[in-house]
Amino acid sequence: MNEAFVVKPAPLSCLSTTDGALFALRRIYCVARNYADHALEMGHDPGRELPFFFQKNPQNFRSDGLFPYPRQSVDVHHEVELMVGLGIGGRDISTDDALDHVWGYGVALDMTCRDLQAEAKKLGRPWVSAKSFEHSAPCSSIRSAAETRHPQKGAITLDVNGERRQTGDLGQQIWSVAEVISLLSREFELAPGDVVLTGTPSGVGPVQVGDLLEAKIEGVGDLRVEVTASSSPL
Ligand code: MN
Repeated sequence: MNEAFVVKPAPLSCLSTTDGALFALRRIYCVARNYADHALEMGHDPGRELPFFFQKNPQNFRSDGLFPYPRQSVDVHHEVELMVGLGIGGRDISTDDALDHVWGYGVALDMTCRDLQAEAKKLGRPWVSAKSFEHSAPCSSIRSAAETRHPQKGAITLDVNGERRQTGDLGQQIWSVAEVISLLSREFELAPGDVVLTGTPSGVGPVQVGDLLEAKIEGVGDLRVEVTASSSPL
């Protein structure tokens, strides 16, 4: 049997850690509507319905401080989110044990093509074009939970060109990080390298080429991203 690859394995996608090591990415899960005031601004009931998830791709992460504006959209929004990286996987993880599975935390932007998302919602289609496009997850490096502990509270903010646009507190999450991990593990086999983006507070809005986005999560880290013209056709 010829065991040579007919297609070579893709390069690994990694986050850098704050102490200069690498966190190899596996799967990316994102939580929708996890802060009541953002659910309200999007026209939804912020009740404690079970959360639903969507995914981005490991290759969508970008940590060089640049966000090339995608040419397929004219209404790209910022969503600042707490990023959680798992160091231990599992299935049917209890809420009490869930935080033991976390390796560390960072700051990420769930960049969203709001026009494509609105069309998808209207037509009952999936969000993949709106959420999982190239460069759709600018992020900070990831910091070990040995340093951050497990933040349950703390300001989460995003400024555009020095003006505050999003503001909230991790304590406002409808579903806590531990609850999200536990719920995900009922549906999916979680594994080291999986990352969860845990939802955004209110104040989402459009970005323009040339904007400087500055995100910060108290006790976790910060992130500066410049919106650039699309560098190449997809
Ligand atoms: Mn989001």
